[in-house]
Amino acid sequence: MTLTCTILGCGNSSGVPAVGNYWGACDPHDTRNRRTRCSLAVQSETTTIIVDTGPDFREQLNRENIAGPSVSAVLYTHAHSDHVHGIDDLRSIYYQNGRNQIDVYGKGCTLSEISGRFNYLFEGGNDEEYPAVLRAHVIPEDAYGQPFVVGDIPVVPIEMDHGTCLASGYRFGDFAYCVDVKRLDHKALDLLAGVKTWVVDGAAYKNPNKIMHAHLQAIYDYNRHIKAEAVYVTSLSAQMDYKTLEAEMPEGVYPAFDGLVLEAFYGS
Ligand SMILES: [Zn+2]
Repeated sequence: MTLTCTILGCGNSSGVPAVGNYWGACDPHDTRNRRTRCSLAVQSETTTIIVDTGPDFREQLNRENIAGPSVSAVLYTHAHSDHVHGIDDLRSIYYQNGRNQIDVYGKGCTLSEISGRFNYLFEGGNDEEYPAVLRAHVIPEDAYGQPFVVGDIPVVPIEMDHGTCLASGYRFGDFAYCVDVKRLDHKALDLLAGVKTWVVDGAAYKNPNKIMHAHLQAIYDYNRHIKAEAVYVTSLSAQMDYKTLEAEMPEGVYPAFDGLVLEAFYGS
């Protein structure tokens, strides 16, 4: 079965350009350098999974023509604001899909932090205007590495070290998405082994001392174990110009860009 995986956004927390039209080292004339915050859509014929709802979520869904009612569930990687703070736009989807609550998944620590910040979405507000629109599903600690199913898409959650917190990566058939991540342990690498396409946070670029994000050399080293045929680096900062990256990266490794569509397969 075929999956269509669309990079809704590939920018780091600031986006490119950052506020003030700050392009850093990026060429403003290369449209692939215009980056919204990280998010992903994974779609089968009948199911659409969104991974993270950053501040650009509404624009991203409209840009890719993903209709509200088609959204089956949201998986959260972690609770940082650049991955979460478009969450209120799930209210529009709730109303468009006939007031059916939207299933959201993530680690216990992730969902408790998000629901602490956006309690009205989970519990309902004080008046009818704010019903509870989200239904939280905590992925239990012992379920990491075990597949669960959303619609007709099997999802394997993978625990990752994001430096200051734990994050969840997700594998869908022969495709995996690891954002945000500093370090992958052996268990994570074994769960990722054999994917054909791997999308991974490389926001630290050439700096191995960044606390929260992987740098490119670490990604190359991890992929010696994973052996993905194609690696797409995401969470790109204003210091990471598309053409420069393309020239610097080894064969089989590519910078992501907003709107990039990747095909994946699962099952038989
Ligand atoms: Zn983060």
